[in-house]
Amino acid sequence: MTSIADNIWRVRERIQKATLAAGRKPEAVCLLGVSKTRSARELRQAARAGLTRFGENYLQEALDKMAALADVEGIEWHFIGPIQSNKSRPVAEHFHWVHSLDRAKVARRLNEQRPPGLPPLNLCIQVNLDAETSKAGVPIEKVEELAEQVAQYPRLRLRGLMAIPDPDQPATSLQQRFHELAAAMATLRARHPDWKQLDTLSMGMSNDLEQAIAEGATIVRVGTALFGPRNTTKRSNRQQSIDSLDGANR
Ligand SMILES: *Cc1c(COP(=O)(O)O)cnc(C)c1O
Repeated sequence: MTSIADNIWRVRERIQKATLAAGRKPEAVCLLGVSKTRSARELRQAARAGLTRFGENYLQEALDKMAALADVEGIEWHFIGPIQSNKSRPVAEHFHWVHSLDRAKVARRLNEQRPPGLPPLNLCIQVNLDAETSKAGVPIEKVEELAEQVAQYPRLRLRGLMAIPDPDQPATSLQQRFHELAAAMATLRARHPDWKQLDTLSMGMSNDLEQAIAEGATIVRVGTALFGPRNTTKRSNRQQSIDSLDGANR
């Protein structure tokens, strides 16, 4: 059995290789440890081994782990799951980043709810690159409209774009999806040179981080390769009930 510390080391090595192969600077890509379904104990081990950024998909689960790890300094919490608009307040109050913004209404609420004592909330807009197979995220042609809304909010800091392309496609077409996200980002930056903080492409997971880095990823979101396989049976039941709740609240 390999330890979380070994896995972190291996994933960092993959990131470094891919970054160098792409002719990019080694520090150009951040590792976000996707810790959904993982225990506070596992996160603590990962933090001891130097992982400082955690991505969580489920609000209550994340809040419980934040409380359990309150004594660990320097953890950065990223919300990467679907946001129900009636549950945006705890997200605004407790997270450093949100990767999964896809509605203007949620942006407005996060802006109102971000506590004045905290720095602005870092945000990525989630883009839907596979319109036929997925419903999360905004279609690529709607990105600019939502970005313009976000950019006017003082308590939000628009950092970039995020996508979860359908993993069940050949590597070349997957890489093409990453390329499309990078192109959308380049367009935004060209049209809004005053948006200085637009520096983030959140793309790439355990199985495709190399292709994402080749196309310019700056944050890779890695779960399985760090923590091992998730318990999918338990998860899919729970995810279903979360999805139906989410649907009811839209
Ligand atoms: C679960 C998840 C990941 C991590 O996926 P792995 O294949 O386990 O690396 C990344 N991003 C999001 C949004 C996720 O929900």
